[in-house]
Amino acid sequence: MIVCEDLRIAGMTILSHKAESAGRKLIAVNPAGTSRTCARCGHCAKENRTTQAEFWCTACGHEAHADVNAAINILRAGLALQDAQAA
Ligand SMILES: [Zn+2]
Repeated sequence: MIVCEDLRIAGMTILSHKAESAGRKLIAVNPAGTSRTCARCGHCAKENRTTQAEFWCTACGHEAHADVNAAINILRAGLALQDAQAA
């Protein structure tokens, strides 16, 4: 399974076909807020994003590379979508 941001670009179609031909399922999630939301406590604020590369949660103090933090949020959203589809 591959979970990624749903960016509504031509590349998404190619990625979707590639995933399918490799026997993988592609789940696209809404990217809104993924880069500003804390992967630990869920606090969403633009102040959490101190620089382009760094994430620092103003609520719980969680620190991470901004892309890593966003990737965790995207994965979690994808897994939630999959659970919803399976139910
Ligand atoms: Zn937090």
